[in-house]
Amino acid sequence: MNRCAYCNTLILFGGVRDKGMQFCNAACHASGQTLIVARAIPEEILSKYAGEIHQGNCPACRGKGPVDVHISYFVWSALLLTSWSSKPRICCRACGIKNQLGSALGSALVGWWGFPWGILVTPIQIVRNLVALCSPPAPSKPSDSLRKLAAINLAARFTAEQKANPTARQS
Ligand SMILES: [Zn+2]
Ligand SMILES: [Zn+2]
Repeated sequence: MNRCAYCNTLILFGGVRDKGMQFCNAACHASGQTLIVARAIPEEILSKYAGEIHQGNCPACRGKGPVDVHISYFVWSALLLTSWSSKPRICCRACGIKNQLGSALGSALVGWWGFPWGILVTPIQIVRNLVALCSPPAPSKPSDSLRKLAAINLAARFTAEQKANPTARQS
């Protein structure tokens, strides 16, 4: 079974393949484009940046950290159409719990009403939220997921700067 190169969720059905990497869906694929640039970021810079995010205030509620990646899982259905997603968010544990509980409840309400995927995927997404809720990242240091998202953020910023100012060289 493969995991999404971006959000690390197990890919059960479908997914997008690109350059030897696999992604949950188009959204993870788009976010994952910067992974290639992200891999080139020096360890020292990445550790410092991830550490700052980890010890900083929560970007969602401005509350105290530690801040890490909390993934919530959602699914909704309308008859023959079922759409499911994994959303990794950089936030504090309290915000993470809020998102996971909200997504579990929301999926329980609107996930079922599609055949066959709604019926298959809804319990999976609910359980994923509950598992994530019960196994939070260790508060002592940035998780691997946070380091990965931090690297992607840095890479995205770098790519945007290159686009805005293509002739500039790094000194
Ligand atoms: Zn993904
Ligand atoms: Zn928060």
